[in-house]
Amino acid sequence: MPESNPNKYSRVSSRVDRIPSSGIRRFFDLIASSDDIISLGVGEPDFITPWNIREAAIYSIERGHTHYTSNSGTVDLRREISKYVNERAGISYDPVTEILVTVGVSEGLDLALRTTTEIGDEILVPQPAFVAYEPIVHMAGGKFVGIDTSMENKFVPAIADLESKVTDRTRAILINNPNNPTGAVISKKVLFELAEFILANDLIVITDEIYDRLIYGDKDAFVHFASIPGMRERTVTLNGFSKSFAMTGWRVGYAVGPEEIIAGMTKLHQYTMMSAPTVAQHAAKEALVNGDSSVNEMLEAYSMRRRLLLNGLNKIGLECIEPEGAFYAFPSIKITGLSSESFAEQLLLEEKVAVVPGNVFGPSGEGFIRCCYAASVADIKEALVRIGRFVGKHKSDPR
Ligand code: PMP
Repeated sequence: MPESNPNKYSRVSSRVDRIPSSGIRRFFDLIASSDDIISLGVGEPDFITPWNIREAAIYSIERGHTHYTSNSGTVDLRREISKYVNERAGISYDPVTEILVTVGVSEGLDLALRTTTEIGDEILVPQPAFVAYEPIVHMAGGKFVGIDTSMENKFVPAIADLESKVTDRTRAILINNPNNPTGAVISKKVLFELAEFILANDLIVITDEIYDRLIYGDKDAFVHFASIPGMRERTVTLNGFSKSFAMTGWRVGYAVGPEEIIAGMTKLHQYTMMSAPTVAQHAAKEALVNGDSSVNEMLEAYSMRRRLLLNGLNKIGLECIEPEGAFYAFPSIKITGLSSESFAEQLLLEEKVAVVPGNVFGPSGEGFIRCCYAASVADIKEALVRIGRFVGKHKSDPR
């Protein structure tokens, strides 16, 4: 037998090999390696899922709901999603043909991109953006085209910047509103301009609205993209239960959109997932039917913590746009002269506070850090003391 050459064939495909490991993961590994760290790092609610939702799951197990569901999700849950979306966004979707229950928005993103993207198609993505977007576009065979935004623009994409990146291969735009990591909410005015741009260039829209319940201040400031005239027929809306209902571990979300795209997504989902977790679907239905007061209570708590964190960051001298949604602040760390990575790494080592370096969200995130305020008031207060001490020590000499 000839000797095998270990270098001849890698066991990992080049497509996967080319994807960098998540920048966030490296930080989480560092965090896990030490005790007594205060974490403003992980983007998930510190709340436990509300009791009525957990109880609905327990009850579903007691009743023996332990089988697969329909590939698309239980009819009951899809009907509730239809009702919920109609009430909140004023758009009606057929529970049978236009709604798919997914394994979180994570799966929804993967399915939406794989369903709509031809090999080599270009996908426009305003950045800073959620870390999964680039690898998911890449795995779908698409070309990721990042559109930088800036603090001066409140991290909202400028139409001129989008226009300058359009080619004859541009297929879709992927937006995240409210945004992770900046907390930015795109105004109605800009969304309407965006819609014009989308129509002019005949693009598909994938909109990730997972933070839609976490809006501070004027609730009308948030607009569901598919509700804009002319957008419903070209928009896939992704949403889920992880953030609004504190259900990250349940792994359930949904996609609503035009029948043709939902049918394509359902085909992929059927072969890769079969169906979203059955118990989680029963819990999700309870969340939609009776979850409103819990969402509002959590929102109130986030709202207070947001104010606390923003005031603290301002006092320390870290400039920050006022986040209008989600549960992140994205302050500039430029006064320290440190890169985002050095800031986050040294803050962790010297003061045991975990934040996420802004550059992992794209090049325009360099010079910023992401602080998640879905943490306890005590932790936020102590983190601010430590960040203040750290910035004081590292502030670059103005001379
Ligand atoms: N989209 C965004 C913008 C997110 O921040 C997250 C979670 N961090 C997800 C999607 C994934 O959510 P899910 O738990 O529903 O998969």
